[in-house]
Amino acid sequence: MSLTIDTELCTACEACVDTCPFGAVEIVDQAARVNEKCNLCGACEEVCPTGAIRIERKTGPAAEGHRGVWVFAEQRRGRLAGVAFELLGEGRRLADRLGVPLAAILFGYGLDGRAADLFAAGADQVILADHPDLEGFTDDLYGGLLAGLAREYRPEIMLCGATSLGRSFFPKVASALNTGLTADCTGLDIRDEDRLLLQTRPAFGGNIMATILCPAHRPQMATVRPKVMKPGPVVEGRSGELIQVDLEARGIAGRTRLLESVEDLTEKVNLAEADVIVSGGRGLASAKGFELLGQLAERLGGALGASRGAVDAGWISYPHQVGQTGRTVSPKLYLACGISGAVQHLVGMQSSDVIVAINNDPGAPIFDVADYGLVGDVYEIVPALIRRLQG
Ligand SMILES: Cc1cc2nc3c(=O)[nH]c(=O)nc-3n(C[C@H](O)[C@H](O)[C@H](O)COP(=O)(O)OP(=O)(O)OC[C@H]3O[C@@H](n4cnc5c(N)ncnc54)[C@H](O)[C@@H]3O)c2cc1C
Repeated sequence: MSLTIDTELCTACEACVDTCPFGAVEIVDQAARVNEKCNLCGACEEVCPTGAIRIERKTGPAAEGHRGVWVFAEQRRGRLAGVAFELLGEGRRLADRLGVPLAAILFGYGLDGRAADLFAAGADQVILADHPDLEGFTDDLYGGLLAGLAREYRPEIMLCGATSLGRSFFPKVASALNTGLTADCTGLDIRDEDRLLLQTRPAFGGNIMATILCPAHRPQMATVRPKVMKPGPVVEGRSGELIQVDLEARGIAGRTRLLESVEDLTEKVNLAEADVIVSGGRGLASAKGFELLGQLAERLGGALGASRGAVDAGWISYPHQVGQTGRTVSPKLYLACGISGAVQHLVGMQSSDVIVAINNDPGAPIFDVADYGLVGDVYEIVPALIRRLQG
């Protein structure tokens, strides 16, 4: 990228000087000039009223020869993660917008039949590395292999779940490929005029949504939290091109060895998979409230969730927390009981199919996203619901 200033057009109005967050623009001889502090952020270009400042973005050369959308299909013990299907649904949409193939990347061992699942979920290609060394996840082996494949096949977009696995190795792949990565995206789209990937994610504590571009490097890489995107339709029997990767022929060896995997007991709070979540907030006023919500959740066959307010109060443990710094969930039914609806909570649950809010303040922001709102005391409404479900 490079920045040019047309001194004929520049009126020395100083809008760029006032806007530049790095103090990189000054007025010299009645025209703007940038110094070595400039990092080409583009703030000056946006405010220049005469169009005198222009940043040349090399989308051409960087993008040349890069084609296709890749989705890293995470699996554990041979079982594909839900986020793999969600990303294939979204990847299919993006690939169709661009008119390019969608590939699923699958690493592991003993993965018979999984490629067929990925084709059925929308992949045109499956790039499969099935080898005993890939049975357990290690950063260096998975990362080295994926970076090598990306150099060879040159996709324009690479997506991965923002799971503990994705968060661990995807940034290393981005670094190895000398490109950028937008973590925890909640929205993806294509900008028609230059085919750039629009990567949207909450920023500044969730108070704004920032859309991030990667104009000068390829691939454009993003991670997406589980349950944010919707899986596409499954077409049984759909087929595509299977590309088998020979790990040994590539001579890639990891420096780490997996000795043992220990299951995290907190996973027992399986919010991500629950169809019904009954969540409580500070409006419950004490831990006792969660006993009541537990009864309701049990009758609905659901799981217990919570706001950070309730977790911070010590009424329920952190694995139950929903929101920006907790879990992102997308159940069929989300019941928010005594939760105000702060933006940091909403980003974790607003894609639920049906949201029911119980709150004694009719002005609570949770009602803005709720499909059904019950204004009243949670200690009157929840027992009434339990009684009705019993009867
Ligand atoms: C960086 C950052 C990250 C954050 N991450 C998260 C996150 O992941 N998840 C999250 O939830 N928050 C998060 N927060 C905190 C968030 O901003 C809110 O403070 C929090 O969600 C508030 O929790 P609450 O709704 O339970 O409490 P409050 O905001 O205090 O709301 C309680 C609600 O209960 C209602 N109420 C009171 N009594 C009753 C009653 N008897 N019956 C019915 N309703 C009643 C009140 O009208 C009120 O609306 C984060 C904040 C920051 C700054």
